[in-house]
Amino acid sequence: MTVEFARGKAYVIDRGKPKLRAGQGMLAGLDVVIKHFVGAFTKKLETPSETTGVFTVQYPEERLALPEAFRNFPILLYDDATGHELCTSCFQCQRICPPQVIHMAQATDPTTGKPVPAVSEFIIEYDACMSCGLCAEVCPFDAIKMDHDYELSTSDHPSMTVDKVGLDRPVSYYEAIAPSFWAEVKDSAYKKLQGNMKRRSGTIGIAPQVAGKVKKAAPAAARPAAAAAPTAATRPAAPVAAVGTNMSDEKRARLEAIRAAKAGGGAAPAPVVEAVSMDDGEAAEAAPVAVATARPAASGSASNALSTGLPFSADNLLGGVPENTAMAEDKLDRLRSIRSGNIAKPG
Ligand code: SF4
Ligand code: SF4
Repeated sequence: MTVEFARGKAYVIDRGKPKLRAGQGMLAGLDVVIKHFVGAFTKKLETPSETTGVFTVQYPEERLALPEAFRNFPILLYDDATGHELCTSCFQCQRICPPQVIHMAQATDPTTGKPVPAVSEFIIEYDACMSCGLCAEVCPFDAIKMDHDYELSTSDHPSMTVDKVGLDRPVSYYEAIAPSFWAEVKDSAYKKLQGNMKRRSGTIGIAPQVAGKVKKAAPAAARPAAAAAPTAATRPAAPVAAVGTNMSDEKRARLEAIRAAKAGGGAAPAPVVEAVSMDDGEAAEAAPVAVATARPAASGSASNALSTGLPFSADNLLGGVPENTAMAEDKLDRLRSIRSGNIAKPG
C-alpha cells in the first residue's frame, strides 16, 4: 500500500505476519522446541549442515563427516605415480606463516650446485601452528594443504615438530578428503609439477616414503655397480643441504637447531623410510631422506636438544623463551606467564 504525501511518497512495507496476540509467541517458540525434541528421537544427523535431529555421536567409534574445508594442520602432497613432491621451495608459505613455524631448505643439484625447484627439508612446528590455512591459500603449486586429522593431542611437544616424513601425503589422500577442492586445481597442479620434474635429477624432490619404490622401478642396468644396499640404520651420515639464503638470522638459527637436534637423535629408528638402493652421489643428494625421522623419533632428538642449550631447548619449551627471540617485551612477559602457568598445572 502506498500513502501519498505532499512532498513525496512513503512506502509502507508489509511485514508479512500479523501482530501476535498474547501467548501466540510462546506457542510459536514451543512449536520449534517440540519439533527438535521429536526429531531427536526420529532423525539422525547425516551432515554438519543439518540442524534438526540427533546431534550426539558415539565418539570415537562414530564420527560426523567433516566438511571439505575443515582444516587442522598442513600437509605436503606428492604425486602417487612418481613420488615427486609438488613443493618447489618457493618459500611463500614460510613467509606468510604468522607464527613463523615453517622452516625449509631448497634442494641443490649435487653436480652443478645450482638450486632446483624442490625442497630438501621441510619442517612445521605443529604445536605452534594456529591452523589459519594461510600457507595452503598462498601456495601457487597446490603443494601444501590442510589435513582433516584432528586427533593429535599429546603432551610430547617435541614430537609435534614434524619433518617431511611426517608431512608428506599422496595426492590420492587429499583427493579422498577434499574431492571437489582437488578437482578444481588438479590440472594446473599436475601441469606445474611436470615442468618442475624436468629440472630435478635423481631422487631430488621425491617423497622419502616412496624413494625406495621409485628407485626399484628404475632399470637395474642403469645403476652403477652398487655394493650391498645400506639400510636406513647403517647409511652413512650425508651432508645436510644448505640453508636457504633468504632466511632471517633468527629463522636460520632455529632451523639449524632443529637439524642439530635431529642429527643427535640419528640412532632412533625411522619406520616410514624404506631402505633405498643408491650410490654415494645419490646418498648425498638424499640427505634429508636419511636424516628424516618419523614423529616418535622426534621426541628422542628433542631430548637431545634439551641438553645442548640450543635455542630450541627444554628451557624454551617449558618455562623460558628463546634467547635470540625478536619478541616485544610485553609479549615475552605474557608468554612467560602462560608457560609458567602450564608448568603449574597438574599432569
Ligand atoms: S596453518 Fe597458518 S600457522 Fe599453521 S603453518 Fe600454515 S600459515 Fe603457519
Ligand atoms: S609448499 Fe607451496 S608455498 Fe610452500 S614452498 Fe612449497 S610450493 Fe612454495
